[in-house]
Amino acid sequence: MRRVVVRVALAVVAVSAIGTLWLYDRITALEVEQITGDVHVLFGAGGNVGVLATGAGAVIVDTLTFRSQGVRVRERAEELGRGPVQAVLNTHYHQDHTHGNLGFAAGTRIVAAARTLDYLRHFDAAYWEEGAEEMLPNELVSDVHELSIGSKTVRSFHLGRGHTGGDLVVLFVEDRVLHSGDLLFNGLYPLVDLEGGGSLAAWIETLDRVLELDFDHVIPGHGPVAGREAIEGFQRFLLEVWRVGQAAAAQGLSLDEMLAGASLTSDAGYAPGGLPPFVVFERDDVLRQAWEEATGSVVALDVPTTEAP
Ligand SMILES: [Zn+2]
Repeated sequence: MRRVVVRVALAVVAVSAIGTLWLYDRITALEVEQITGDVHVLFGAGGNVGVLATGAGAVIVDTLTFRSQGVRVRERAEELGRGPVQAVLNTHYHQDHTHGNLGFAAGTRIVAAARTLDYLRHFDAAYWEEGAEEMLPNELVSDVHELSIGSKTVRSFHLGRGHTGGDLVVLFVEDRVLHSGDLLFNGLYPLVDLEGGGSLAAWIETLDRVLELDFDHVIPGHGPVAGREAIEGFQRFLLEVWRVGQAAAAQGLSLDEMLAGASLTSDAGYAPGGLPPFVVFERDDVLRQAWEEATGSVVALDVPTTEAP
């Protein structure tokens, strides 16, 4: 009996060691893809990272989920960007796009939508207190913002609500590459952060304004790099989901009644979003959020406006 217990215990230790290694590997691995001569994307556990070489150092968009990843992102960005990181942009407040900020040098320019700073302070206060405060966004965008570094122009836009209430898209002007943040989940079911100011109805309109910008390639928040048609396809999906939610609200359907009768066609080939297996967004989750928004059963939380640090 005792031996069995020991063997089981050893097996548990071995399995959890393998699990830990697997987890460590998932968290620390960074894959690199080149888009243009001066633009690369880093794929890791979290939101995709855009890296621009300016001739006077690197500009990066989003910083992944953990401080240790932020350190690796900075190191890779300095190689690919051929110089020190001159500025960081955060597309929105979610931790898989911002927590790596702590891997950068104090005093780094950090650009985000003004609302993103409010959300970081309100929803994620514990992470950002004492010491981490100086890695909060310190250049705030209300509509348009421009960085001119080396030979490059980086123009960022807050074009309206969508995934959250503080979404920023970032255009590498000369390279015609747009980082959409989580306004595009490419081929993946998205999250609509209703409590954090997100809205399906607004998201669809915000994407109209995104499509007015001049770019050839888009780095989505999640999923592979794509062209403009990926945004158009995703917009059609959001519209289809939103119409299901609106119809359910108009007919007074319960959530379960709506889910039982819902059929979509625009999500052919979609995979679960989030960070599987830890956080998973499926089709029913998006439909539920459409129902919650259309029926008014979940609304944006009252988040106060704060001052830049
Ligand atoms: Zn997000």
